[in-house]
Amino acid sequence: MVRPVKPRMVGFLPPVQCFQPGDAPASGVEVVNLSLDEWEAVRLKDYLGLEQEECAGLMGVAQSSLQRILATARLKLASAVVEGKAITIRGGAYHIVGRGFCHECRREWPFPADPGSQTHRRCPSCGAGNIGRRGPGRGGPPWRG
Ligand SMILES: [Zn+2]
Repeated sequence: MVRPVKPRMVGFLPPVQCFQPGDAPASGVEVVNLSLDEWEAVRLKDYLGLEQEECAGLMGVAQSSLQRILATARLKLASAVVEGKAITIRGGAYHIVGRGFCHECRREWPFPADPGSQTHRRCPSCGAGNIGRRGPGRGGPPWRG
């Protein structure tokens, strides 16, 4: 029996959903698809450099699940770069949540999942006032499934 995958929380939408090798013919290029939850794991861990525990918390998954998601995502990205494949980012088991974001230390926190965070005027981590909101409600292209 296969258990359905619990949706992973995704706090930001990718600015583009398709990468195409510039020096390859448009047709006949293999495509590797990154699911949105895989993209989010890479964004949090590898791009923002957050600790694994924090990434897992932000996505609402166990650390062991995060490790599996990351391993799959990194292998897909590596195979695209090494073998010259196109990359698409779509699909997966996810649901979109808004995020508070600190411009100073790059910490994120979910809202409204964490009701207290809606009242944040300062970063809960470093205390900076230079904070913003990220998520589908603010900026970013509309998501096309
Ligand atoms: Zn901060």
